[in-house]
Amino acid sequence: MIGGIDHTNLETMAHHNKSMNYHIKLKAAKRRIFDALEREGVNLHGMKHKKRISTFLTMFDIQRPIEIRTDAFIIQLYEQDILPEPTPKKRPEKKVKIITDEWRQKYLDYLKSPEWRKIRIECIIHWGGKCVLCCSEDRLQGHHRTYKNLYHETVEDVVPLCFKCHKIHHGK
Ligand SMILES: [Zn+2]
Ligand SMILES: [Zn+2]
Repeated sequence: MIGGIDHTNLETMAHHNKSMNYHIKLKAAKRRIFDALEREGVNLHGMKHKKRISTFLTMFDIQRPIEIRTDAFIIQLYEQDILPEPTPKKRPEKKVKIITDEWRQKYLDYLKSPEWRKIRIECIIHWGGKCVLCCSEDRLQGHHRTYKNLYHETVEDVVPLCFKCHKIHHGK
């Protein structure tokens, strides 16, 4: 130890940093490679990383010098910015919607609005003016097949159901 500093420890830290850097770069390089393969329509399922990388190198006609290990080589490609840009990760769509009182009230208000009345009538006309389940024309209601366009529904999003079928459909 010199001057109170433990150089052995510093060296270990430096080494650790370097190897951390290495793994981060390797991960980034792999992500770019796997992304590029997926864009090319390659099914990566069950394909080992080594195989993926060699497939990539063949597809993109990149020659790896025999003396450089694959991992080190793709890090080089990454550092030289040769690897294709990754596709930005899409956030998965939330499947479960937590229905709050506020949401419910807004929805109930909407069902009384002229906008909804208009969509409901358009949808009834679109679907032939009768219940899509039993063909009754009695007290037709608009049933949401999907809420993906809620408040801006298209005629495809809503189907007419008679009062009875609608009740049954919602298990009431
Ligand atoms: Zn419904
Ligand atoms: Zn019906």
